Amino acid sequence: MIVVFLGPPGSGKGTQADYLHENYGFTHFDTGSRLRVEIASGSKLGARIASYTNQGKLVPIDIIRDLVTAYFATGNVERVLFDGFPRDLEQAEVLSNCLESYQLHLDCAVYLEIDSDSLVQRIVNRWFCPECGEIYNLLSRAPQHPGRCDREGAELMQRRDDTAEVFKTRLAVYEKQTKPVLDYYRERGLLKTIDGDADISEVSKSIVKLLKLDGIYAP
Ligand code: AMP
Repeated sequence: MIVVFLGPPGSGKGTQADYLHENYGFTHFDTGSRLRVEIASGSKLGARIASYTNQGKLVPIDIIRDLVTAYFATGNVERVLFDGFPRDLEQAEVLSNCLESYQLHLDCAVYLEIDSDSLVQRIVNRWFCPECGEIYNLLSRAPQHPGRCDREGAELMQRRDDTAEVFKTRLAVYEKQTKPVLDYYRERGLLKTIDGDADISEVSKSIVKLLKLDGIYAP
């Protein structure tokens, strides 16, 4: 099963994708995390990527195309969730071409619809564990001990682009470049909308129901 998660920054795509990874064996293909790994490596490519991500702008298509085609070449695409990709119509075509080359098809594009007023609060209250990647939110999912990961005890950090200022650009980019992707999948009969404002566990249940995942389990 191949699924795309769509929604504005802070809509909970990553949290839900992690849930499906842990409980239903989906590969979580998250372009944002993959780009951050490249940035952390200190490479020249990472520096080029950071010059876009630090401003909240989309990184150029050649970088995303390379990431995605390398992923398809692994052959591990039987059960995958694309999170944060495609981000514009050009990327939607990249996905479509990759799927065609491997004689695969997209099952569903899940749109996490959310009230945009709550987004900035979700973003500025988001923290993560640098050791295990666990994501916390001071509003909805606070750590048991302030500033520390429940699993690792490591000191939590914030993403460099999770500030109110950069968020403004990220939201504007979403409105202008990513929203047309919703219509792209709607026209193809693949778009399904979920209420992303509900509790995290309710959203998970809705997605499981939508994708008819009950009874499917792969560790
Ligand atoms: P995210 O982790 O999905 O919020 O992405 C963080 C940042 O990485 C975005 O603001 C973009 O700068 C960059 N990024 C992530 N995914 C993509 C993509 N598919 N295309 C272009 N830029 C991306």
